[in-house]
Amino acid sequence: MSLSEFELIKRYFDDAALQSACSGLVLGIGDDAAIVRPPAGQELVVAVDTSVAGVHFPADAPAAEIGYRSLAVNLSDLAAMGAQPAFFTLALTLPEADPEWLQAFSSGLMGLARAEGIALVGGDTTRGHLTISIQVQGYVPQGKALRRDGAQLGDLIFVSGSLGEAAAGLAGYQHPDSDAQLRARYLRPTARIALGKALRDWASAAIDVSDGLLQDMGHIAKRSHLAAHIDASAIPLSSALRAAANPAQALQWGLTGGDDYELCFCAPAAHCSAVEALSQELNLKLTCIGEMRAGSGVQVHGLDAKVRTALARAGYQHF
Ligand code: ADP
Ligand code: MG
Repeated sequence: MSLSEFELIKRYFDDAALQSACSGLVLGIGDDAAIVRPPAGQELVVAVDTSVAGVHFPADAPAAEIGYRSLAVNLSDLAAMGAQPAFFTLALTLPEADPEWLQAFSSGLMGLARAEGIALVGGDTTRGHLTISIQVQGYVPQGKALRRDGAQLGDLIFVSGSLGEAAAGLAGYQHPDSDAQLRARYLRPTARIALGKALRDWASAAIDVSDGLLQDMGHIAKRSHLAAHIDASAIPLSSALRAAANPAQALQWGLTGGDDYELCFCAPAAHCSAVEALSQELNLKLTCIGEMRAGSGVQVHGLDAKVRTALARAGYQHF
């Protein structure tokens, strides 16, 4: 490793305080590999996500947002498992080592890491097309992880927050007069970590909405050997989204737009009051949008012809 790479890591990524506070971390940045001793009774939950400039985010996105988003999307995968994120590694491929860009990228990335108390414990730095690959690891009490395959017949389907905003934000990204709240929703997603942890004890299945509700609910349906029935009129759409798009477009984004990183989960109807209480506690909207029934696939009820046609044209069948 050349001195400049060493300096780059030291200056932008090696946060000693964060690493010393990391539960289970024996050795962090500086050796050939990090050493971790998971706390007794905990399972390690591991996820990796790669973001390529021009593919997973606009190539001209601000560096701070790129840093923030690259970590947030990974944290969302752990949230969907009900895990507490603990540490992460960063494989960073850069076209050039531009100090200004690196400072901003680091402020977004490490700012979120500090806010969530998650340590960067190692990585790799290479030259090439801008690509950020982050592997995040977290803990969950043994046997308590939320999985996609646990939904039961008759379970209700819930979703956190609101859907479709990130897709609207991305669509308006190039327009300077587009809604800043929607753009921010795409660039700075919030991983629902506290929600995931709270769901461990009674949710039967969970997934984060990264590819769009219909597609992601399809994974729960398939893995759980059931059908997901969704009520179109129940999909939570924010007032910002409704103001930015006509009703058909807003609903289409809510059903199929990606990048919202809300959690979609299933729970027995007997837990409705627990969902209500949790919503109050976290100050986060939790909406019942449907039910798991016998069968397979995802069925949407209450679609008008216009949206149905648009969805069919976009490749969504079986409504
Ligand atoms: P090696 O050549 O043994 O793979 P490197 O010289 O690439 O190790 O890296 C030296 C140390 O710096 C290692 O502990 C590695 O995990 C860490 N590191 C390298 N790149 C990054 C990065 N982008 N972010 C955080 N740590 C990094
Ligand atoms: Mg080595």
